[in-house]
Amino acid sequence: KEKIIEIKHLTKYFDVGNGKVLKAVDDVSFDIFKGETLGLVGESGCGKSTAGRTIIQLYQATSGQVIYDGEDISQKKSAKESKKLKKKMQMIYQDPYSSLNPRMTVHESIAEGINNHEEQLSQREIESRVYGLLESVGLTKKHANRYPHEFSGGQQQRIGIARALAVEPEFIIADEPIAALDVSIQAQIVNLMQDLQLEKNLTYLFIAHDLSMVKYISDRIMVMYLGSMIELAASEILYDEPLHPYTQALLSAIPIPDPRMERTRERIILKGDVPSPINPPSGCRFRTRCPKAMQVCSEAVPRWQEVSENHFVACHLYDLEYISLVVD
Ligand code: SF4
Ligand code: MG
Repeated sequence: KEKIIEIKHLTKYFDVGNGKVLKAVDDVSFDIFKGETLGLVGESGCGKSTAGRTIIQLYQATSGQVIYDGEDISQKKSAKESKKLKKKMQMIYQDPYSSLNPRMTVHESIAEGINNHEEQLSQREIESRVYGLLESVGLTKKHANRYPHEFSGGQQQRIGIARALAVEPEFIIADEPIAALDVSIQAQIVNLMQDLQLEKNLTYLFIAHDLSMVKYISDRIMVMYLGSMIELAASEILYDEPLHPYTQALLSAIPIPDPRMERTRERIILKGDVPSPINPPSGCRFRTRCPKAMQVCSEAVPRWQEVSENHFVACHLYDLEYISLVVD
């Protein structure tokens, strides 16, 4: 598989005053393959949105690298280079309404992106591109001259998607694109995103706070906790054989679709809230809430290791070196 993005030891720290530092993203490394959907999952405050924004260069990385098509894009760029990157990478937001300008018609909003990147197009060509985009997201020409507030939440998200697609990007970060929508609309938007992915050969990083919908859209899933990588595996593997106690807890919280079905997983209730990323726990960051925490968990940071092919986890329960120490 061909890599579109390689993320290497990426960190994003925020200075929050009084000499304190918020470690929103702390040493995260993974690859994204061309044409795949990688789900990025964790509770709010775990750093997934910050990771997305740092990858797409909305934030400057504190350290580490983001390699796009073989080129390191994490360093400061000239205006021209940044513009070129924006054409390749776009973002879809959780709240489509606030990401659209309320005073611009749908046509103006979508045309704005095209105008910024393709000065040579005539008004007529832009117009036909806007109509084409509206159609590809399930809207029509007659919606073009209306304003964002005239649309439902689902339609607004369709407009947000059309706007992201206007510059014909290759890679899209969708930051909880369905979290604010009615459940009945969520599947429609997910289906639309999947159709567009096939049609336009897109690569997605799909951010979500729980594991219920990502299963259907993701090829692989990365789970994060307090700025750190927890587990990464193919979607079905992560659902069938979750290794990390945090992943197990997230999965056990998914509602069962049919109440007559027996729950195969015992519900795991995590104690307490996510600790502050300003002062995270020593050793394993999950240890204050982990039902399986051991002595070593407060003493050593668990290593990120490949436990079986393409299945990675950071937890001492699977740390072979540690296990052999205990057995000896
Ligand atoms: Fe739990 Fe320890 Fe594994 Fe962390 S390293 S998830 S505290 S068992
Ligand atoms: Mg977020």
